[in-house]
Amino acid sequence: MSAEAFVTLATSDSYCMGAIVVARSLRRHGTTRSIVVMVTPNVSQRARLGLEGLFDKVIVVDVMDSEDQLRLSMLRRPELGITFTKLHCWTLTQYSKCVFLDADTLVLCNVDELFDRDELSAAPDPGWPDCFNSGVFVFRPCLHTHARLLEHALQHGSFDGGDQGLLNTFFSSWSEADISKHLPFIYNLTTSSTYTYLPAFKQFGHNAKIVHFLGVMKPWSSQGRTESSQSQNMGRFLTLWWNEYRAQKNCQPPASEGEPPHK
Ligand code: UDP
Ligand code: MN
Repeated sequence: MSAEAFVTLATSDSYCMGAIVVARSLRRHGTTRSIVVMVTPNVSQRARLGLEGLFDKVIVVDVMDSEDQLRLSMLRRPELGITFTKLHCWTLTQYSKCVFLDADTLVLCNVDELFDRDELSAAPDPGWPDCFNSGVFVFRPCLHTHARLLEHALQHGSFDGGDQGLLNTFFSSWSEADISKHLPFIYNLTTSSTYTYLPAFKQFGHNAKIVHFLGVMKPWSSQGRTESSQSQNMGRFLTLWWNEYRAQKNCQPPASEGEPPHK
């Protein structure tokens, strides 16, 4: 069988904290696939070393290529910087199929069955369900697709300034073409669902397979801890996140992040 991998991305030491939890939670639930993280050169040596013990591969990618025409365009559109970085996942052609997971996700059980899906499979975005959320998606690394995505970025930009807008206009038939490419919401349970549709969360939330801490407040940010702790429903997932993070030996949160909360 050709190689398959879970892929995540961290462009800063804070997001490395999230990446650690992604890897550990995948391993805890016995994935048989490789686990890969893409990091940018500004990620500290210390943070990178922490990832190397956990991931099968730590791949350094540039935020922008200084030799490329694209760079100038990107400089005029700085909000696309991160978008460009995520798109690097299509260059991982040593793998035949991958599942991208945002660094702010937490895996709650074995989700290797996602590799039965094809590109581009993703769950609906809770804010606009005809768009997919780009925090969890199945894709096939391919240099041709990568080039077409960059061209698309240059031609059309991103309607939301991030990778999600870009990917949704590129894979524009997602909402209608093939229901098998619609992942159930439980593969990308966004934290906002507790207040946007609480009865559904009460009914189905226990089936969650991947939780996504979408939004500005992340488990590792002090504000995120305070806010989320107020939500009884998500508090359970936040505790799970911290348990997974603390299970990582030899890795302290960056000084600026403060101490994890005490129970
Ligand atoms: N990301 C990163 N550094 C950043 C912002 C984003 O590495 O400064 C990566 C990380 O993998 C993150 C993903 O891009 O999970 C998408 O960003 P985020 O999760 O913050 O967006 P949201 O899901 O909240 O819309
Ligand atoms: Mn996210």
